[in-house]
Amino acid sequence: MFSVAIDGPSGAGKSSISKTVAKQLGFIHIDTGALYRSLALTAIENDVNTDNEISLKKLLNSTKIEITFINGSQAVLLNGENVMGKIRTEEVSMAASKISKIPMVRSFLLDLQREIACRNNVIMDGRDIGTVVLPNADVKIFLTASAEKRAERRYKELLEKNEKIEYNVVLEDVVKRDYQDSHREIAPLKPAEDSVIVDTSEMDFEQSVNAIKRVIEEKL
Ligand code: C5P
Repeated sequence: MFSVAIDGPSGAGKSSISKTVAKQLGFIHIDTGALYRSLALTAIENDVNTDNEISLKKLLNSTKIEITFINGSQAVLLNGENVMGKIRTEEVSMAASKISKIPMVRSFLLDLQREIACRNNVIMDGRDIGTVVLPNADVKIFLTASAEKRAERRYKELLEKNEKIEYNVVLEDVVKRDYQDSHREIAPLKPAEDSVIVDTSEMDFEQSVNAIKRVIEEKL
Protein backbone atom coordinates (compact mmCIF):
# COMPACT_ATOMS: atom_id res chain seq x y z
CA MET A 1 0.00 0.00 0.00
CA PHE A 2 1.15 3.55 -0.71
CA SER A 3 0.58 6.24 1.89
CA VAL A 4 0.84 9.99 1.74
CA ALA A 5 0.81 11.99 4.98
CA ILE A 6 -0.23 15.62 4.70
CA ASP A 7 0.07 17.67 7.86
CA GLY A 8 -0.27 21.35 8.50
CA PRO A 9 -2.16 24.06 10.37
CA SER A 10 -5.88 24.67 10.05
CA GLY A 11 -7.03 26.42 6.91
CA ALA A 12 -3.99 25.57 4.79
CA GLY A 13 -6.36 23.76 2.43
CA LYS A 14 -5.18 20.28 3.42
CA SER A 15 -8.54 18.58 3.12
CA SER A 16 -9.83 20.08 -0.10
CA ILE A 17 -6.44 19.77 -1.81
CA SER A 18 -5.91 16.21 -0.53
CA LYS A 19 -9.39 15.19 -1.64
CA THR A 20 -8.81 16.44 -5.18
CA VAL A 21 -5.34 14.92 -5.47
CA ALA A 22 -6.63 11.59 -4.10
CA LYS A 23 -9.40 11.52 -6.68
CA GLN A 24 -6.96 12.21 -9.50
CA LEU A 25 -4.54 9.51 -8.33
CA GLY A 26 -7.20 6.94 -7.44
CA PHE A 27 -6.34 6.96 -3.73
CA ILE A 28 -8.77 7.28 -0.86
CA HIS A 29 -8.64 10.46 1.17
CA ILE A 30 -8.92 10.48 4.95
CA ASP A 31 -9.47 13.78 6.73
CA THR A 32 -8.47 12.91 10.29
CA GLY A 33 -9.63 16.30 11.62
CA ALA A 34 -13.18 15.05 11.00
CA LEU A 35 -12.57 12.31 13.58
CA TYR A 36 -11.50 14.78 16.28
CA ARG A 37 -14.39 17.03 15.30
CA SER A 38 -16.89 14.17 15.61
CA LEU A 39 -15.64 13.34 19.09
CA ALA A 40 -15.87 17.02 20.03
CA LEU A 41 -19.43 17.09 18.71
CA THR A 42 -20.51 14.18 20.84
CA ALA A 43 -18.93 15.81 23.92
CA ILE A 44 -20.87 19.02 23.19
CA GLU A 45 -24.14 17.23 22.44
CA ASN A 46 -23.88 15.18 25.62
CA ASP A 47 -22.69 18.12 27.69
CA VAL A 48 -19.60 16.23 28.80
CA ASN A 49 -16.87 18.10 30.66
CA THR A 50 -13.82 16.80 28.78
CA ASP A 51 -11.48 18.09 31.50
CA ASN A 52 -12.95 15.41 33.76
CA GLU A 53 -11.11 12.19 33.01
CA ILE A 54 -13.87 9.90 34.28
CA SER A 55 -16.62 11.61 32.29
CA LEU A 56 -14.44 11.57 29.20
CA LYS A 57 -13.61 7.88 29.61
CA LYS A 58 -17.30 7.11 29.97
CA LEU A 59 -18.05 9.06 26.82
CA LEU A 60 -15.32 7.29 24.81
CA ASN A 61 -16.51 3.89 26.03
CA SER A 62 -19.98 4.59 24.70
CA THR A 63 -18.86 6.19 21.43
CA LYS A 64 -18.40 4.37 18.14
CA ILE A 65 -16.61 6.20 15.37
CA GLU A 66 -16.51 4.71 11.88
CA ILE A 67 -15.27 5.95 8.54
CA THR A 68 -17.34 5.26 5.47
CA PHE A 69 -17.49 6.54 1.90
CA ILE A 70 -20.55 8.08 0.33
CA ASN A 71 -20.27 8.77 -3.41
CA GLY A 72 -16.50 8.56 -3.09
CA SER A 73 -16.30 11.08 -0.23
CA GLN A 74 -15.38 10.26 3.33
CA ALA A 75 -18.10 10.44 5.94
CA VAL A 76 -17.77 9.88 9.67
CA LEU A 77 -20.42 7.85 11.41
CA LEU A 78 -20.82 8.79 15.05
CA ASN A 79 -22.73 5.96 16.69
CA GLY A 80 -24.15 5.20 13.26
CA GLU A 81 -25.12 8.79 12.38
CA ASN A 82 -23.42 10.63 9.51
CA VAL A 83 -22.24 13.84 11.22
CA MET A 84 -20.40 15.49 8.34
CA GLY A 85 -23.00 18.27 8.15
CA LYS A 86 -22.58 19.17 11.81
CA ILE A 87 -18.85 19.32 12.46
CA ARG A 88 -17.67 22.39 10.57
CA THR A 89 -18.81 25.11 12.98
CA GLU A 90 -16.42 27.33 14.94
CA GLU A 91 -17.75 25.85 18.19
CA VAL A 92 -16.78 22.34 17.10
CA SER A 93 -13.42 23.57 15.74
CA MET A 94 -12.40 25.00 19.08
CA ALA A 95 -13.71 21.99 21.00
CA ALA A 96 -11.81 19.63 18.66
CA SER A 97 -8.61 21.55 19.19
CA LYS A 98 -9.16 21.35 22.96
CA ILE A 99 -9.88 17.61 23.17
CA SER A 100 -7.10 16.71 20.74
CA LYS A 101 -4.59 17.57 23.50
CA ILE A 102 -5.83 14.66 25.60
CA PRO A 103 -3.75 11.46 25.24
CA MET A 104 -6.82 9.24 25.83
CA VAL A 105 -8.54 10.88 22.87
CA ARG A 106 -5.53 10.53 20.59
CA SER A 107 -5.04 6.86 21.37
CA PHE A 108 -8.77 6.24 20.93
CA LEU A 109 -8.43 7.35 17.29
CA LEU A 110 -5.00 5.94 16.47
CA ASP A 111 -5.85 2.38 15.44
CA LEU A 112 -8.74 3.48 13.27
CA GLN A 113 -6.38 5.72 11.29
CA ARG A 114 -3.63 3.11 10.98
CA GLU A 115 -5.97 0.32 9.94
CA ILE A 116 -7.33 2.32 7.03
CA ALA A 117 -3.81 3.05 5.79
CA CYS A 118 -2.93 -0.65 6.02
CA ARG A 119 -5.71 -1.62 3.66
CA ASN A 120 -5.76 1.23 1.11
CA ASN A 121 -3.62 3.55 -0.93
CA VAL A 122 -4.27 6.64 1.09
CA ILE A 123 -3.75 10.36 1.35
CA MET A 124 -4.30 11.11 5.01
CA ASP A 125 -4.37 14.65 6.31
CA GLY A 126 -4.07 15.91 9.85
CA ARG A 127 -1.53 17.31 12.30
CA ASP A 128 0.54 14.28 13.29
CA ILE A 129 0.18 11.87 10.39
CA GLY A 130 3.82 11.99 9.27
CA THR A 131 5.16 12.20 12.83
CA VAL A 132 2.96 9.74 14.77
CA VAL A 133 0.17 7.98 12.86
CA LEU A 134 2.13 6.91 9.77
CA PRO A 135 5.81 7.49 10.55
CA ASN A 136 6.70 5.23 7.61
CA ALA A 137 4.52 7.02 5.06
CA ASP A 138 5.93 6.93 1.53
CA VAL A 139 5.48 10.68 1.12
CA LYS A 140 5.24 13.32 3.85
CA ILE A 141 4.12 16.83 3.10
CA PHE A 142 3.78 19.79 5.45
CA LEU A 143 1.22 22.09 3.87
CA THR A 144 1.09 25.60 5.21
CA ALA A 145 0.14 29.22 4.46
CA SER A 146 0.24 32.50 6.39
CA ALA A 147 -2.30 32.86 9.23
CA GLU A 148 -3.94 35.82 7.41
CA LYS A 149 -4.41 33.87 4.18
CA ARG A 150 -5.80 30.88 6.05
CA ALA A 151 -8.23 33.06 8.03
CA GLU A 152 -9.34 34.74 4.80
CA ARG A 153 -10.15 31.38 3.20
CA ARG A 154 -11.97 30.11 6.29
CA TYR A 155 -13.93 33.37 6.56
CA LYS A 156 -15.17 33.03 2.98
CA GLU A 157 -16.14 29.41 3.62
CA LEU A 158 -18.16 30.38 6.71
CA LEU A 159 -19.88 33.25 4.88
CA GLU A 160 -20.94 30.85 2.16
CA LYS A 161 -22.54 28.74 4.87
CA ASN A 162 -24.30 31.84 6.24
CA GLU A 163 -22.46 31.70 9.55
CA LYS A 164 -22.43 35.20 11.03
CA ILE A 165 -18.85 35.90 12.03
CA GLU A 166 -16.25 38.67 11.64
CA TYR A 167 -12.94 38.23 9.88
CA ASN A 168 -11.01 39.29 13.00
CA VAL A 169 -12.68 36.61 15.07
CA VAL A 170 -11.76 33.98 12.48
CA LEU A 171 -8.16 35.21 12.45
CA GLU A 172 -8.01 35.11 16.24
CA ASP A 173 -9.36 31.53 16.20
CA VAL A 174 -6.80 30.49 13.59
CA VAL A 175 -3.93 31.93 15.63
CA LYS A 176 -5.29 30.40 18.84
CA ARG A 177 -5.75 26.98 17.26
CA ASP A 178 -2.24 27.11 15.73
CA TYR A 179 -0.86 27.83 19.17
CA GLN A 180 -2.87 25.06 20.84
CA ASP A 181 -2.02 22.54 18.13
CA SER A 182 1.70 23.26 18.04
CA HIS A 183 2.28 23.66 21.78
CA ARG A 184 0.55 20.57 23.12
CA GLU A 185 2.72 17.96 24.75
CA ILE A 186 1.46 15.00 22.79
CA ALA A 187 1.70 14.82 18.99
CA PRO A 188 2.18 18.58 18.47
CA LEU A 189 1.79 20.05 15.02
CA LYS A 190 5.24 20.17 13.44
CA PRO A 191 6.79 19.12 10.15
CA ALA A 192 8.23 15.60 10.17
CA GLU A 193 11.98 15.74 9.61
CA ASP A 194 11.63 14.02 6.26
CA SER A 195 8.67 16.10 5.05
CA VAL A 196 8.51 18.39 2.04
CA ILE A 197 7.22 21.84 3.01
CA VAL A 198 4.68 23.37 0.64
CA ASP A 199 3.54 26.96 1.32
CA THR A 200 0.29 27.82 -0.48
CA SER A 201 0.05 31.50 0.61
CA GLU A 202 0.64 32.69 -2.93
CA MET A 203 -0.97 29.75 -4.74
CA ASP A 204 -4.53 29.30 -5.88
CA PHE A 205 -6.32 25.98 -5.47
CA GLU A 206 -5.20 24.49 -8.78
CA GLN A 207 -1.58 25.50 -8.25
CA SER A 208 -1.66 23.93 -4.78
CA VAL A 209 -3.12 20.69 -6.18
CA ASN A 210 -0.41 20.55 -8.83
CA ALA A 211 2.35 21.28 -6.33
CA ILE A 212 1.21 18.40 -4.11
CA LYS A 213 0.75 16.05 -7.05
CA ARG A 214 4.26 16.77 -8.23
CA VAL A 215 5.73 15.83 -4.84
CA ILE A 216 3.76 12.57 -4.76
CA GLU A 217 4.40 11.58 -8.36
CA GLU A 218 8.13 11.87 -7.84
CA LYS A 219 7.87 9.00 -5.34
CA LEU A 220 5.23 6.88 -7.09
O1 C5P B 1 -8.11 19.59 10.44
P1 C5P B 1 -9.21 20.17 11.27
O2 C5P B 1 -9.14 21.64 11.41
O3 C5P B 1 -10.56 19.71 10.86
O4 C5P B 1 -8.97 19.55 12.73
C1 C5P B 1 -9.71 19.97 13.86
C2 C5P B 1 -8.81 19.88 15.09
O5 C5P B 1 -8.51 18.51 15.34
C3 C5P B 1 -7.45 20.56 14.95
O6 C5P B 1 -7.44 21.90 15.41
C4 C5P B 1 -6.53 19.71 15.78
O7 C5P B 1 -6.50 20.17 17.10
C5 C5P B 1 -7.19 18.36 15.80
N1 C5P B 1 -6.47 17.38 14.99
C6 C5P B 1 -5.39 16.73 15.56
N2 C5P B 1 -4.74 15.76 14.87
C7 C5P B 1 -5.11 15.43 13.65
C8 C5P B 1 -6.19 16.10 13.02
C9 C5P B 1 -6.84 17.09 13.73
O8 C5P B 1 -5.02 17.03 16.69
N3 C5P B 1 -4.46 14.46 13.02
